[in-house]
Amino acid sequence: MIDTPSEPDPAEDDLPDGDGTADSEALVVCPHCGAASEVGLDPGGGAQQQYVEDCQVCCRPWRVTVRYSAAGGADVSVEPLDG
Ligand SMILES: [Zn+2]
Repeated sequence: MIDTPSEPDPAEDDLPDGDGTADSEALVVCPHCGAASEVGLDPGGGAQQQYVEDCQVCCRPWRVTVRYSAAGGADVSVEPLDG
């Protein structure tokens, strides 16, 4: 393990476009029940991703679509899977 004492991580504010770092989480609204949830993203998974995830509130499935911009910002959309 390499320990780098300098450059502490910046505070985790809502400023995703700080340093060329890609978003690793996003806030989405459930298309079934309307609850807002935070979902974890995988920036290493590619510029465009699609997968299925269940709502933590109503347990119904979403199709999650993630698109990363060149700046690393994630554009996340969800739609109902059982349509
Ligand atoms: Zn829900």
